[in-house]
Amino acid sequence: MSKPNSINTSAAVDLVTTLMAIPGKSGHEREVAEAITTRLRKAGVPSKAIRHDTANSRSPAGGEVGNLIVKLPGTIRAPRRLLMAHIDTVPLCVGCQPVRRGELIESRDASTALGGDDRAGACVVLTSVLEILKQDLPHPPLTLFFPVQEEIGLYGARFVSLSRLGKPAMGFNWDGGAPGLAVVGATGDYSIDVVIDGIASHAGGHPEDGVSAIAVASLAIADLTENGWHGLIEKGRNRGTSNVGIINAGDATNVVTPQLTLKAEARSHDPRFRKRIVAEFKKAFQRAARNVRNSARKTARIHFDAQLKYEAFMLSENEPCVQTALSAVESVGLEPGVRISNGGLDANWMVAHGIPTVTLGCGQQDIHTVNESLHVESYLQACRIGLQLATASD
Ligand SMILES: [Zn+2]
Repeated sequence: MSKPNSINTSAAVDLVTTLMAIPGKSGHEREVAEAITTRLRKAGVPSKAIRHDTANSRSPAGGEVGNLIVKLPGTIRAPRRLLMAHIDTVPLCVGCQPVRRGELIESRDASTALGGDDRAGACVVLTSVLEILKQDLPHPPLTLFFPVQEEIGLYGARFVSLSRLGKPAMGFNWDGGAPGLAVVGATGDYSIDVVIDGIASHAGGHPEDGVSAIAVASLAIADLTENGWHGLIEKGRNRGTSNVGIINAGDATNVVTPQLTLKAEARSHDPRFRKRIVAEFKKAFQRAARNVRNSARKTARIHFDAQLKYEAFMLSENEPCVQTALSAVESVGLEPGVRISNGGLDANWMVAHGIPTVTLGCGQQDIHTVNESLHVESYLQACRIGLQLATASD
């Protein structure tokens, strides 16, 4: 009899090679969802166990399909486990032709990324279940969760129809990174939108009549930078980051620019400090507005809006799902480690929904770039870890 976590490695590599070639940027996940569904049906999963939810109808991005959710009854009595990986990719992956080069799978075309983020994760989840069915392995009740629209704001995990997940006791998410490293916490993030309404005037004839929205924004950003509120933020024991990422303004040099829109973000693991960063941004723009006046003493108007994109989380090392993940890593002969992420993950929303969720990698490297590759042995290790987590019950 084969060991509990032995897998058909060539089948697992074929699977990921095929799925990475399917185009599926965020909102366009129908084809990859169909590919997953086809394989599950062929392996004997009844069609009524395979469903899409309606997350796409709640997502601000719309999208072709909702999340793909598969519910399997257990063959042993144990708490339900959830295995998940997002099925969208960044647009740079569209058109990729995966090719094996030594230890790696890469994109044949140097102008596309690979899409190992996160088709490799989806194939870890899929391989785990296909092996269970093929080898007839005992397993607890399982929910397979394939969220859409991760890359554009974690929308699939955010807007999941919770009742369809079947109340899992713990979740395991696969995304970018090394297979043995468990992400047990991640930062929270605000998006900041600023509109500056200045006053137009002729830049040569009557510049003193205008209020330049660009001048106001420049003063505000200079203020934030000089006072340590832009970029890496370190204030006493508090840590965070912020970034002004997008600015749009102006269409002529002979006009004092009347309007500017700006998008920024503020992150910190500490919700209170994150709010403080947002407050400092608001104050800086208001101060800057007061410092730019026209000849009639008029100032620009600041419209400031901040929205929580996702809340931070931190799982204790004693949390059963952390312990379970680490022992699964050990069971395949890897040295387990834990990590805190400074980016948001679908797991942020799973934890917010009440499902403690650990995130593991599957060998993706240089994600979101044309240099992206998948380290094949790491991916196979992730598949073995996935099978272990899908079959063990303690
Ligand atoms: Zn990802």
